[in-house]
Formats: sequence, structure tokens, C-alpha cells
Amino acid sequence: MIKNLNVDPQEIAKFEALASRWWDRNSEFRALHDINPLRANYIDHHSPVAGKYLLDVGCGGGILAEAMAQRGAIVTGIDMGEAPLSVARLHQLESGVEVDYRQSTAEQLAETVPQSYDIVCCLEMLEHVPEPGEVIAACARLVKPGGALYFSTLNRNLKSFAFAIVGAEHILQLLPAGTHEYAKFIKPSEMASWIREAGLVLQGMTGLTYNPLSKRYRLDETDVSVNYMVRTVKPA
Ligand code: SAH
Repeated sequence: MIKNLNVDPQEIAKFEALASRWWDRNSEFRALHDINPLRANYIDHHSPVAGKYLLDVGCGGGILAEAMAQRGAIVTGIDMGEAPLSVARLHQLESGVEVDYRQSTAEQLAETVPQSYDIVCCLEMLEHVPEPGEVIAACARLVKPGGALYFSTLNRNLKSFAFAIVGAEHILQLLPAGTHEYAKFIKPSEMASWIREAGLVLQGMTGLTYNPLSKRYRLDETDVSVNYMVRTVKPA
């Protein structure tokens, strides 16, 4: 951890090293590009984002942040990686989409601007931090009462090990070896208890499944065995 922050410097370093390829659809970030329309639609469907204050925690190069801004949200993106944030800031000049990018943890931002966002998203990030429950609690402080929160991560079981690590990193080489650490994957039951402890209410869950033959992802509410996303609300 960096000076008692809930940050793993080795994890940040991995993303710093890859950052220049963030917007290359054929790079290590291909999977994020491929799932982006699915998750953006899911969020926009359950919490129409136009005109809403939306925070993207662990925004990286801004793939989700830009998609949300394109749909009319007023977006703040935070990340602890400097290179991903530089890439995100450069890319917005190219795309003409407006996002306010800041280097911060969710915990730090919650100290300065609690209860400020209508929607908080924290996707594919919890499996890279030392204490995921603390990030969820900070997100709960950042959202306004009655607001919505979205979290996504990788489940922890034999199938997710086979798909997300052996398949994605070693066989298909969609991701560099070492991108994910199995022990940090999160079971839906663990996610659900952190959500409850943060005073949030779990409203739904969907899997994001990958078909290696068609090379396509889809949302599947019946299969949360590998990648999954949850939606929660903070009671008004
Ligand atoms: N959410 C984005 C990027 C996921 S990659 C998307 O789904 O498209 C994970 C990102 O989390 C990286 O950019 C990494 O730098 C960031 N990250 C890891 N630990 C963090 C922390 N403690 N606080 C903020 N960002 C963090």
C-alpha cells in the first residue's frame, strides 16, 4: 500500500506500463472495449445517465467515462495511475468528449466531496486493490442518497480461473500473463456482504459471458460464474 492508502503499487505499475495502448482495440484492452457497449447500456438502462453527475472510480484510460459522457452524463473519472490519466486526457481532446479526470482514490475523494454523485461506477477495479470492501464503502459515501452504484469484477472459482487466467492470459493471450491474481477475485457472496456493510441495497446482478468461438460477449443474468456486474442503490 502507498502510505496507508488502499492502493497496491504493483497493480498501478501494471496499468502504467500498458497505458499507451489503452485505446487500441487490438491491445491488452480489447476485452474492455468489447464489453463497453454492454455495460454502458446496462447502466444507462437502469439509471438513465443524461444530465446526471456520474463518478467513474478506477477509470483508467476512460473507456467507460467517455461512453457515459457521450450519453450526456457530467462525468468525473478518478484513477491512481498517472499514465492512464494522461492517456484519458489526451483522448478526450481527440474525441471532443468532456470528462473531469483526477488522480485520487475513492477514499480520498469521499473526504472532500461526499454525497455528490447520482451514479457511481467502479468496474474491473476491485480485484486490483488490497481492501475492496473499503472502496465499496467509499463509493457509498460518494453517492447521493437515492443514487445508484455499479460494481463489476471477476468471480473466484475453478471456471473463472480456467477462463480468466488460463484461457485469457495463457491460451488466447488476450491479456498479459499476470494481469489478474486469482486470490483477489471476488465471489458474489463477498461482494454482497461488503455492499450490505456499506449500507447499500443490492438490486440486481448480471454475468458478462464470453464465447471463445464467436469471440463475443453478452449479458447473461443466469451466469455470473466468471465476469459479473452488480447494481445497487443507497437508500434515500
Ligand atoms: N474501470 C476501467 C479500467 C479498469 S483497469 C474500465 O473498466 O474500463 C483498473 C484501473 O484501476 C487501472 O486504471 C488502475 O490504475 C486503477 N486502480 C487500481 N487501484 C486503484 C485505486 N486504489 N484507486 C484508484 N484507481 C485504481
